[in-house]
Order: sequence, then C-alpha cells, then structure tokens
Amino acid sequence: MEEERKLNFLEEIIEQDLKSGKVDSILTRFPPEPNGYLHLGHAKSLCINFGLAAKYGGKTNLRYDDTNPVKEDVEYVDSIKEDIRWMGFQWEKECYASDYFDQLYEWAEELIKRGLAYVDDQSQEEISKGRGTVDQPGIESPWRNRSVEENLKLFREMRDGKYADGEKVLRAKIDMAHPNMMFRDPLLYRIKHASHHRTGDKWCIYPMYDYTHGQCDSIENITHSICTLEFDVHRPLYDWFIQTLGIYPSHQYEFARLNLTYTLMSKRKLLELVQKGLVSGWDDPRMPTLCGVRRRGYTPESLKMFCDKIGVSKRDQLIDIQLLEWCVRQDLNARSNRYMVVQDPVKLTITNYPEGQVEWFDCPLNPAEPEGASRRVPFTRELYIERADFMEDAPKKFFRLKPDGEVRLKYTYIIKCEEVIKDENGNVTELRCTYDPSTRPGAGEWRSVKGTIHWVSCESARKISLRNYDRLFTLADMSQVPEDKDYKDFLNPESLTYASAWAEPALLEDKSGIAVQFERTGYYVLDKDSTESEPVFNRTVTLKDSYKPE
Ligand code: ATP
Ligand code: MG
Repeated sequence: MEEERKLNFLEEIIEQDLKSGKVDSILTRFPPEPNGYLHLGHAKSLCINFGLAAKYGGKTNLRYDDTNPVKEDVEYVDSIKEDIRWMGFQWEKECYASDYFDQLYEWAEELIKRGLAYVDDQSQEEISKGRGTVDQPGIESPWRNRSVEENLKLFREMRDGKYADGEKVLRAKIDMAHPNMMFRDPLLYRIKHASHHRTGDKWCIYPMYDYTHGQCDSIENITHSICTLEFDVHRPLYDWFIQTLGIYPSHQYEFARLNLTYTLMSKRKLLELVQKGLVSGWDDPRMPTLCGVRRRGYTPESLKMFCDKIGVSKRDQLIDIQLLEWCVRQDLNARSNRYMVVQDPVKLTITNYPEGQVEWFDCPLNPAEPEGASRRVPFTRELYIERADFMEDAPKKFFRLKPDGEVRLKYTYIIKCEEVIKDENGNVTELRCTYDPSTRPGAGEWRSVKGTIHWVSCESARKISLRNYDRLFTLADMSQVPEDKDYKDFLNPESLTYASAWAEPALLEDKSGIAVQFERTGYYVLDKDSTESEPVFNRTVTLKDSYKPE
C-alpha cells in the first residue's frame, strides 16, 4: 500500500491558497532560458511545476525567458520542447518573454513618467562600484536626478538605436542605501545591438531578468511562480514591480536546486564541454542533460521516480547519484526485456551434443511476467560463455564453471567441464564439456546446481559494439574543485570504454523501445549510431547494486 506522504511546503501553500479562496485554481510556469539544453536539475523543476498543477487540477505554461539574444538560439528552443514532451508533460501555453517586450517597454515609460526610473550614463564598472556593499550604502549616480522629459527622450533614443552597447542603461529609482542590495537602483534595460531569435532587429534594448520575470508571470496570471533558492533575495523586488505597477499579484516561492554527485549542472560549463569537444555533444550519454540521459537509456519514469524520492526542500542538497541509478534499475528491472550477451568470450564445446543440431528454447522476455512474452534462443554444440565464469583453480565458494564442476547454462541444461584446452601461453582457448539431457527444464525432475551462467550459440551469435559508460567526473562534490584546479581536471578518463560482444539473435529484433537487460551484467540501449552491420549499445547502468535508499 502506498504510504501517505507528508505535504511538502509548496503543497501546503497551495492547499492553503485554494482553501482561503486566494486563488480558484493554480497556474504554474516552467521558465527556461533558451541558452542550452535541459538537464536533470530542470527535470526536478519540471516535476515540481507540472506535478503540482496536475495534483491540484491546474495548468502549467512553458515560458521561454528569452531576454538575452546573444546567448540564445532556436536550436535550444526546439530541444527544450522535445525534452519536456519526452518527460510526458503537456504545457498549457507556449509563451516567450519576448512576446511581452512592447508591454514591458510601456511599463518602463510609465515608471519614468512617475519619477521611478532614469537613464544612467555611467559605465558598468561605475555602476557596480556605486552600488556599495552589504555593510556600506551605495552612492547615487550623477545622472539620477534627470528630469522626466530628459529621461523619456534618452530612453526613446536608446530604443531607437542612437547609442552603442553599454553607453546608457535604464535604472529604477528606488533607494541607494537600501539594506537589500537588489533595491539599489536595479537595472531595467541595457543596450544590445544583437538580433533576437524571435524579434529579429526590432529591438536593440533588452529588459533585465528582474524587470522581466515577475511582470511576465503577472501578464499570464501565474499564481505560483516557483524558482530556485538563489532567487529569494530577488523576491522583494519581484513584488515591488508588481505592486508599483498595480498588476496581477503573482507570487514567487523558492526551492533548493538539485546538485548530484560526480556531475555538474551549470549550462555554461556543459556548453564548454561540448564546445571543447570533451564530450561528443549535448546528447553525449555521459552528460546530465535530458537528451544525454535519454540516449543513455534512462526513462522518464525513472527520472520522475527520482524527483519524487528527493522531494522538494528548502535547503541546498547534494544528492548521491546512486539514488538516480537505483531508480533507473528499479524501473528497468520491472519493464525491460532480457537477453544474453557475452562480452569476453571463451568457447565451450559440448562434446556429447550432436553436431549440427539446433534446439530452440522459449525463454521469458521478463521473468517478472512468467506468462508474458518470450523470445527464442538457439542452443548448439558450440557456445560462448564469459571468460570470467570459468576458473581453473577455483576457491571453494566459486559456484560457476571449474574443472570437473557442474553449472547450469541459463534456461537449458546442466553441463560438466571435462577438459580445459590452452594455447602455448597457457591461456584457456576452449572448454570441453558434456551435458546431461535429463536436466532439460520440464523434462523430468528438476535437479539444481549452485551456479547458473549465461551463454550464446557461436553459430547464431551476433556481434555488437558496446559503449560502457561511467560517471563523467571523478570528484563527488563538484562544487569543491580546489582553487588551483579547473573542473575539467576532474573529467573521468574511464567514463567511456569500448568493447565488442556476442549477443543472442533475438536482441536485434527487440521492439520494446526502451533499454534492455543483458542478463547478469547491466542495462543497455540501442544507440542512434548503430548500422545494419554494427549495432551499437550504450550501457545505461550496471546491474551490480549495493546501494539502498534510506
Ligand atoms: P544555469 O545557471 O545552468 O544557466 P538556470 O537556472 O539559469 O541554469 P534556466 O533555464 O533559467 O536555468 O532554468 C529554468 C528553470 O529551471 C528555472 O526555474 C530554474 O530555477 C530551474 N533550474 C535550473 N537548474 C536547476 C537545478 N539544478 N535544480 C532545480 N531547478 C533548476
Ligand atoms: Mg536562468
């Protein structure tokens, strides 16, 4: 039975707001800046925003926070939609901050007319110096007391392209000694002569985040604007713009961003990895991007399970990546099809099995569903097994194949190792065995042996290529990179190793569309680089798991 979960703080707020009649229904938004691909942190934000809306019968807008044309691109706009759809979320409206540029501009003129904004000619450096520090009040700009008429004229000239980048800015006129630094005459507009992916060359001034976000929420009647913790100092300013302009009162709430061990989530750094060719692209299966983990074989269900487990907290957290791996194992264990694949083969000949004979065994695709679908696996005289499943001088506790020992070949017979053939260097080249026909499952009384190993038939095995992926970085907490080092110094050189392997033929007929389990080794998913002659499989995660979530 599903355990009743305590409400998280956002659910508490929403239930309160619905009960008190403050809102009739909820409308959230997911506000990515289209300057990179979505990553696992965004998955958390998606699950929160879409999850809350779904739980309370509300809706969620997708809003692109596209106020910086220099870093943004339609490639990112498109990938974001694809990733959200893949996660299984459906947005209500597709919106863009740039849709509201006219309205934002009008409001800026309104603020100027009310004496609440002015054009400042100071340079970027002068402005930040003048802002003061937490303990020291700022100093007022020499341009702070321009007349309304002059400010209007200059602001219109800024809009009309009369000035170069950085020559002037529009600032709110609030309080240069305010204890919250955000209120020390924040920037509203800067000049950027750059083409925008949606508005083209219509604008050469672009609004700043703080001046944009709350008003966009308000225009859309967003009831609960949920963002990450670092924005809590921005909240008073968010409220100030909404109250000053007297527009729909959206409210902002903050939760802790997701940090995961052995990876990082900064778009700037992920972009650098792509641009420097340190990974194969945004969808490199080692990347924490949604397209990366998708290509790696992660399912939306596993990501949702993960987001559910980590919950919504108000304190910054570093989550163990093993929890994510545990979730994908849980999901794939329940759903994925099984196949036998041998990675490091040694030949095994069953000397008393007729030459040329092929027996087809019906094997379950998923043992959790004994009545479910099956695949057919050919058994022949010559097989491959994993080299590691044989040991010549085996310790007592070794229950796989050893000289004179018995083992069951999965789904089929018990065999006995009669002879070990080696080359001149002492390497095992062949294992000669006999099989016991009476041990065929269903043939009579079940006889059990301690070990069961996987195998493939040499004759029909298909050669495949494997990309065995591991963690991208070697440092658990990537926020702790020492001062004299760079985060790239911690790239894991073993994060990708190549191998080839022999697979039972049914693997290449798999139609499940999700990762499959290579029995006894791990979960693998067919990669888009596959060709008819060279199927390529990416390792999602190994089977081995000692991790237990709390
Ligand atoms: P970056 O700093 O890497 O550029 P960002 O926060 O600027 O990330 P946005 O595209 O602005 O990225 O984020 C869209 C939404 O996703 C925002 O609401 C943001 O708070 C949220 N988000 C981004 N990163 C994380 C994270 N690591 N954990 C949870 N939510 C996140
Ligand atoms: Mg951002």
